[in-house]
Amino acid sequence: MQKKPVPSHYALPHIGRLEAYAPGEQPGDDGWIKLNTNENPYPPSPGVGRAIMKEAGAVRFYPNPKSTPLREAIARQFNLQPAQVIVGNGSDDILNLLMRCFCGRGKAAGTTSPSYSLYPALCGIQEGDLIQIPFARDMELPVEAIAASGANIFFLTSPNTPTGVGFSNERIAEALESFPGLLVVDEAYVDFANENAVPLLVRYPNLVITRSFSKSYGLAGLRVGCGLASEEVIDLLDRVRDSYNVNSLSQAAVIAALEDPQFYREVIDRIIDTRGKFLGELRRLDWFTYHSQANFLFTEPRNGKGKSGPEIARGVVAFLKERKILVRYFGGDALTDCFVRISIGTEEQMKALLETIELWQKNNA
Ligand code: PMP
Repeated sequence: MQKKPVPSHYALPHIGRLEAYAPGEQPGDDGWIKLNTNENPYPPSPGVGRAIMKEAGAVRFYPNPKSTPLREAIARQFNLQPAQVIVGNGSDDILNLLMRCFCGRGKAAGTTSPSYSLYPALCGIQEGDLIQIPFARDMELPVEAIAASGANIFFLTSPNTPTGVGFSNERIAEALESFPGLLVVDEAYVDFANENAVPLLVRYPNLVITRSFSKSYGLAGLRVGCGLASEEVIDLLDRVRDSYNVNSLSQAAVIAALEDPQFYREVIDRIIDTRGKFLGELRRLDWFTYHSQANFLFTEPRNGKGKSGPEIARGVVAFLKERKILVRYFGGDALTDCFVRISIGTEEQMKALLETIELWQKNNA
């Protein structure tokens, strides 16, 4: 028999060169304090569980293909038309649809650096050129560089990750005025911020906003996000969407969550309050920390001798992990490699983290 080539031989050439997105660690066993993937430390609204139980009896049916009742609920929430809303399997799904529609050979995607590392992975699948605009240390929005980037579609995360720095609508509007392509503002963390870009949608047809129900709504495991944009953009995204991209339990759960705004206001306020208190502790330790408008803090650890640097940052991450506390480290970039990103947990979790940090400092004095 003639020898057949290995299966990868049949793959498109660029697929073998792709680097897959690396999600944060999800340990399989109990007892961890998980402050590495910006999940909500509190359970979702009680209505969510009830809605899932109710819907469970009907799972032999396909879900609503366009998530129509959920689009309508989201549209009401933002005072938009349902035709301006698309729902996805997490906001990652919407980011993927945007790349599929607007990035490819000869149509580059732009991002800032640092930012969410899924964008380069999605751009690679499309074989699009990636244009990365670096931040300066102050993490101010580089509007002029974005405008001159030559990208067809630009992904801006606000508040940004891993820094937590949010950008004002005034600066985002300047980018929308001067950048000739489509500007995506990824607002996965915006419920923890004091401003969001939704009011800009009426003025700028080149604006797309993505939102997540994974963070502020505590529904990461259900995978729901949405895109808000002009009717024309939503129509294009719908053409490349999987026909049943959001399962029926998740659709029902998010509708129930949206019916309980008071519950979520309290959860978000509690996380913002804990963020403020923990920031105070980091400042007391003399750890430089960016001003965060998200549910995490990006901070530069100092050991007991007052030293910082990539080795120190890696050292504290390892010390915490040995004690079952996970935080996130982003190496390989001078703007991030002396820092760690810490998601905001409960008051008790942050207290345990602080005690462990102080122990590490004592051991390294
Ligand atoms: N955007 C940013 C900036 C994120 O950090 C994340 C979470 N990894 C997402 C989008 C994806 O969120 P979702 O769970 O809605 O897919």
